[in-house]
Amino acid sequence: MLVSREFDTAFAGVLGLLIGSFLNVVIYRIPVMMYREWLAEAVANLMSSKDVPSLWSMAFDPKVMAPAGLEAAADKAAKVLEAQPPFDLARPASRCGACGHKIRWYENIPVLSYAALRGRCGACKTAISLRYPLVELITGGLFALCAWRFGITPSGALWAAFGALLVCQFLIDFDTQFLPDSLNYPLLWLGLIGAAMGWTGVSLSSAVWGAVFGYLSLWLVYHAFRLVTGKEGMGYGDFKLLAALGVWLGADYLIAIILVSSLVGAVIGVTLRVAGKLAHRDIPIAFGPFLAGAGLICLVAGPQVVKQWIPFAFPLGALIH
Ligand SMILES: [Zn+2]
Repeated sequence: MLVSREFDTAFAGVLGLLIGSFLNVVIYRIPVMMYREWLAEAVANLMSSKDVPSLWSMAFDPKVMAPAGLEAAADKAAKVLEAQPPFDLARPASRCGACGHKIRWYENIPVLSYAALRGRCGACKTAISLRYPLVELITGGLFALCAWRFGITPSGALWAAFGALLVCQFLIDFDTQFLPDSLNYPLLWLGLIGAAMGWTGVSLSSAVWGAVFGYLSLWLVYHAFRLVTGKEGMGYGDFKLLAALGVWLGADYLIAIILVSSLVGAVIGVTLRVAGKLAHRDIPIAFGPFLAGAGLICLVAGPQVVKQWIPFAFPLGALIH
């Protein structure tokens, strides 16, 4: 069946709006799920069902005793955790953060519901953040762009997933200063599969070296910065994200990604300052949003166009391919 490019683009755009609505859930819930996992793991490792004293003596000097009451407190905490209702991407159903009003299906239609409700909760009229429809619109736009450029093909689907995962990492890191592994690793693996299958247009060797040098370069900067200043400027999530971007775009793009991400950082910094938001943030902005932003710019402009913008950022291009 012959379906026009315009139809494919519109179809992907609508699909992107719906996926964008789901990404809003991902952006809000993945950090909460991650925090819960950390607590559950910590408690499980301290419970009396484990041999905590011998674990303690293996980890530290035998004279260093485990503080009294640790296991009893962990047992108590485990009971509290067990009593919690399930929390994942599907459960519980979405509710208004202010009044607990359960969001009905017709209040959850991407962009349209926000417009129909004039950006307010249907029950308590508390303002809903403009970010929700914006994430939907951006994801819809990215999906439409990928379908326009690649058609509804494995390449188009992969690059759309690349865009969706970067939108999540951008906002999660902006909100929490964390880049969850549960999104970084799928991004990395998908890019490797795409390179191996020839769907991303990057050779497998360039993708692998992109991961290696992407990770290593920030790892070196991190440790050099820590040696000199005694402070930690980034986190391991940043290394993994640059490794993933190296996989998707190829090792020869790493310098360009760093340059574009500095530009993204400058734009975000100036925007926040103008909006008067920076003064209220006691935590510095993480590096992850800049990296994710650079990946999104490369996706939207097209990697080849980025090469034309800043040709000097590709000194090793011929060596790596
Ligand atoms: Zn409400």
